[in-house]
Order: sequence, then C-alpha cells, then structure tokens
Amino acid sequence: MSIKGICVLGSTGSIGVSTLDVVARHPDRYQVIALTANNNIDRLFEQCQQFLPAFAVVIDKDHAESLRRRLVEAGNKTTEVLSGAKALEDVSVLPAVDSVMAAIVGAAGLLPTLAAARAGKTVLLANKEALVMSGPLFMAAVAESGAVLLPIDSEHNAIFQCMPAHYHAGRSALEVRRILLTASGGPFLRKAIEALHDVTPDEAVAHPNWVMGRKISVDSATMMNKGLELIEACLLFHTPPEKVEVVIHPQSVIHSMVDYVDGTVLAQMGNPDMRIPIAHAMAWPERFDSGAEPLDLFSIQRLDFEAPDFERFPCLQRAYDAVTVGETMPAILNAANEVAVGSFLEGGIRFTAIPDVIKHCMESVAVMKAHDIPEVLEADRQSREAAAAYIARLQS
Ligand code: NAD
Ligand code: MG
Repeated sequence: MSIKGICVLGSTGSIGVSTLDVVARHPDRYQVIALTANNNIDRLFEQCQQFLPAFAVVIDKDHAESLRRRLVEAGNKTTEVLSGAKALEDVSVLPAVDSVMAAIVGAAGLLPTLAAARAGKTVLLANKEALVMSGPLFMAAVAESGAVLLPIDSEHNAIFQCMPAHYHAGRSALEVRRILLTASGGPFLRKAIEALHDVTPDEAVAHPNWVMGRKISVDSATMMNKGLELIEACLLFHTPPEKVEVVIHPQSVIHSMVDYVDGTVLAQMGNPDMRIPIAHAMAWPERFDSGAEPLDLFSIQRLDFEAPDFERFPCLQRAYDAVTVGETMPAILNAANEVAVGSFLEGGIRFTAIPDVIKHCMESVAVMKAHDIPEVLEADRQSREAAAAYIARLQS
C-alpha cells in the first residue's frame, strides 16, 4: 500500500483536528503535505511541529510571518509558510497531494475545494457551503477531472455507505426510492417557541450530541444545517428534493438511511464522532481504525423518530425553496445565512431574526443562471450586501 499525501484545508478547526487525529493513527497510510488556518497560529504551530508538512498556509501576512519566525526558532526546516487566499488553491493542487480534506467553514472554502476537484484529487468534503453555493458546477468539475468525491458530513457519509456497491457521488441510483436524512433537532427541539426570541449564542452552540465549530452549531440550532444538507444530498446523490425526507432522530445514532424500491431500508449507525466518517473516507474503499468508541446499544436503549416542525425551524423551508429554484438561489441562501449567523454570534441580531434575513435576501437579490463560478461569487457578494443592509435596518 503506497502512502498518500494529504492537504488539510482548515486544519485548526473541529474537522481539521479530528482529521489529524486519524492521520496520526495511520502514519503508514498518510503523510501530511499541507495544513492551512485562518488565525489560530498557536494550534497551527503545534500541528506543524507534529506533522512536519511541506507547507503551512495562513491567510493574514503578519500571522504568517509570526508563524515563520516561531518555526525557525523551533528548528523546523521542513515547513514553508505561505500567506493569502490564493495559496490555499496552490497547496490543494500540489502533485504530492493525493487527497484534500475540505474543512474550511463557509464560502471561503469554495475556491480551494474547487481547485482540488478540478485537479482530479480525492476530495474529502466537509465544507458543505462550498458545494451548496456552486452546486452543479462543482459536480461537473468532479465529473470532468475524474476526481473522487467522498462525503465527510456524517449524514452524507452514511448515505454513501448505504448506497449500492460501486456507487460514485454524482450518479443517480434508480433502485433508491428515498433518502432519509436524519437530524438531531439541535438544542432547541423542545424549547418553547416563544422563548427562542431570547436565546444567547452560548445556548445556541451547545449542541446535545456533537462538538463542532460555532457556525455549524448555530446552523444546527436553526436547522439551516439540515437545510444545507438537503441541498448537499440532492447534489451528491443526484436526487430531486422530493426524494429526500428529513427525519428528526434525537439520539444521533443512525446517521441517515437509504430506502430501496424493494422496501429495504439500510441505515448507518455509530457514535456521534466525526472521526468515523473521516476514517471511512480516508480508508475508502477499505476500512481502518478511527479511534472512535464502539457503539453501546444497551446504554442507548431506544431510537426515536419524528417529523420536523417547519414553523419552529423556518430555515429548513427556506432551503427546500432554494433548492427548488436552483441556479444562484442556494448561493444567495448560504451567503445570507453566513452573514446572519455571524451577526447573531456577535450579539448583533436575535436568533429568530436569522430566517428573516435569509428570507429578505432570497426575495430581494436577483437570481442568475449560474453558468460559471464568477456568477456564483457575484450572487454571494450581492446577498452578503443585502443581508448586511437588512441587519443594519433591524438595528437602527
Ligand atoms: P471550525 O470553525 O471549527 O473550523 C473552521 C476552519 O476553517 C478553521 O481551521 C479555520 O481556521 C478555517 N477558516 C475559517 N475561516 C477561514 C477563511 N476565511 N479562510 C481560510 N480558512 C478559514 O469549523 P468546523 O466545525 O470544523 O467545520 C468545518 C466545515 O465542516 C464546515 O463547512 C462545516 O459545515 C463542516 N462540517 C463540520 C462538522 C463538525 O462536526 N464540526 C460536521 C459536518 C460538517
Ligand atoms: Mg451533518
């Protein structure tokens, strides 16, 4: 078995750290070629010392300089430090890189993830926003280059595992009747609807089952995360939204299911530990140890299911609407959500204003055809502008 080179985009985040935990268990299978971070230089420094990548990328020039100095002082002669967003694309397409873990949060991950897809790399996709924004363009890039696209999002990884043998992302599977996309319901599943008005960022990021970055944690509380995942599922599995059903399953033990035409329903189960889908995708089509604890069904005892409440979670309906319209609408939805969640986390707007910001952008920003990536980026820019203006009006 030859050793594979991996580039971890967003190595200092929740998914990035879990990825490196899996890499460290398999030094005979993976070698780290590049690591990237936005501004957590302390963690990136430690990761560079542990994994000795050829490259480390930091967005900000001054941060890059400070990392460079620290690595020299520590005697690291292996790691070259690059800066700027373009460097993310450069390290994603290096010849020594076989696999790219796309674990940057939000739209910032689009261009490097797309670059990896265009270069025919194995793309381990956690960064759902990149796929939601660029949709069919991203899937076409994968098909054209022959890149291998493996889902890291636990639900999509579960669906992928339940798909027919030899299935590849982007193809349709006619023997599949429905995809059952499970959702925990987040921290506010049972909270009085009137009380949602006053929830704080700390309450919103306190997810009952998963420990994740702050943005995706808020998305889980609004269920926009499931909305983005609905769009992600339609793209990855070439399926219309009517064939994807969201099922609330508060225990997060089943990570999603595939319902076949003969009535068979296959489910993938496991502890809520992202190292499981990460290790699955890294070892695919084989398997190796992820470090996750074995599932203890006797302590779990029961699995519950219920239908989602679209009044409690208006963001979920917005996502169904966006995927139905298609074109640049998912990019408009995603950008509005990123701005709204960012503002909520900074104390700028209330939790319940998040779906209002998104609705405003979906109604006011013109939908374009999405022929190419510049059009997608323009839709993203216009939606961010509309969201910021709407938030400023809410605050005045
Ligand atoms: P996080 O906030 O913990 O980490 C984000 C990473 O991206 C960090 O390394 C950060 O430095 C980097 N980053 C942030 N902004 C950047 C920018 N502008 N330019 C370059 N780099 C930037 O987020 P996370 O929870 O690890 O999530 C990462 C992605 O994976 C998200 O798209 C999320 O939806 C998806 N995902 C996460 C989980 C999870 O369990 N955490 C599960 C499924 C999917
Ligand atoms: Mg998920």
